[in-house]
Amino acid sequence: MKRIALLGATGSIGRQALEIIRAHPELDLVAAASGSQPIDDLAPLTQVGGDLTELLERSQPDNVLNAVVGFAGLPATLWALERGIDLALANKESLVAAGDLATAARRRGGGRLLPVDSEHSAAYQCLDGHEADTVHSLVLTASGGPFRGRSREELADVTPAEALAHPTWSMGPKITVDSATLANKGLELIEAHFLFGLDYDRIEVVIHPTSTVHALVRFRDGAALAHLGYPDMRVPISFALTYPVRSETPVPPLDLSCGLTLEFEPPDLATFPLLALARRAGERGGPYPCAFNAANEVAVAAFLEGRLPFLGIAETVEETLASVDRAPARDLDELYQMDAEARRLAERTASAA
Ligand code: NAD
Ligand code: MG
Repeated sequence: MKRIALLGATGSIGRQALEIIRAHPELDLVAAASGSQPIDDLAPLTQVGGDLTELLERSQPDNVLNAVVGFAGLPATLWALERGIDLALANKESLVAAGDLATAARRRGGGRLLPVDSEHSAAYQCLDGHEADTVHSLVLTASGGPFRGRSREELADVTPAEALAHPTWSMGPKITVDSATLANKGLELIEAHFLFGLDYDRIEVVIHPTSTVHALVRFRDGAALAHLGYPDMRVPISFALTYPVRSETPVPPLDLSCGLTLEFEPPDLATFPLLALARRAGERGGPYPCAFNAANEVAVAAFLEGRLPFLGIAETVEETLASVDRAPARDLDELYQMDAEARRLAERTASAA
């Protein structure tokens, strides 16, 4: 039996995780948390809002699936990493904001960190069993979102409803907007750096509209391994929860009988500046990834509330990053201060836009 704590149980990932857990008698849901929605009957121990580490302390799981959205997931990520408890991580924002602290906690705890993000799950599987020095580079694919091919002028007036209509993935609102701006791929770039210990110049992003190839690893001998499948999060969720067993899911095998065309193109960094801003923030390190994430969360919320135009999201993040003036966080308190300061800067920029 694997005792699972599911955080963010009412969300897009959370609901798909429940489906996987229910299909596996060996997965025992011992605890569940949501931000505000009631979840009384979901698990023996439940919690709505509050400090997620209290629920984790009470339930003592073998495996934490962190599917909370945003920086709020951070305490749970660090709790699991520090204790060496298996962490199935969908909450990329925590690893982006606290990459250095999380890496140190992971080293001390020595547990398993299994990515749930589809590209990173794919990369994990391609990298598995290969020495780091045999890897040439990692390629993360991006669908390009609903606005692929548009010019900046055409993006000036897009509405939240248009940004929420994703072509290939059905996800929560925050990540769907992040996919439309390419901030999601920016977060994923930083996530991949911390997950796999690869320098940024060895992680490439390509646009691949059908989301069939999730990631690709090039090796020094000229071979490249790719991970293909239908875009369905139940596959990476199942992989992370049942690892090292590759279990059956309801997702059908890839059908090649009607032909399969794989198209790739470079991202349009001028129209979607958040990807380049994320890369720069990642390369600079220290406070920048945390500030990138905080400003992006503030700006996406303002966009969804109709307070900020679509193009204002990138402008808010860019201006916030330009004002960051801090040493790297040495502990969690300093990281919280850093996050709060970036949020204040971003709120001010967004309200002035
Ligand atoms: P969602 O908005 O659908 O769900 C978010 C969940 O987090 C909800 O259950 C909500 O109640 C909970 N939550 C929010 N604040 C909380 C708090 N303070 N404490 C406890 N719970 C809280 O989001 P989602 O699309 O399921 O995404 C969740 C995470 O997974 C995000 O980090 C996202 O980037 C990542 N992710 C999602 C997908 C996807 O297909 N949805 C794919 C890859 C990665
Ligand atoms: Mg992803």
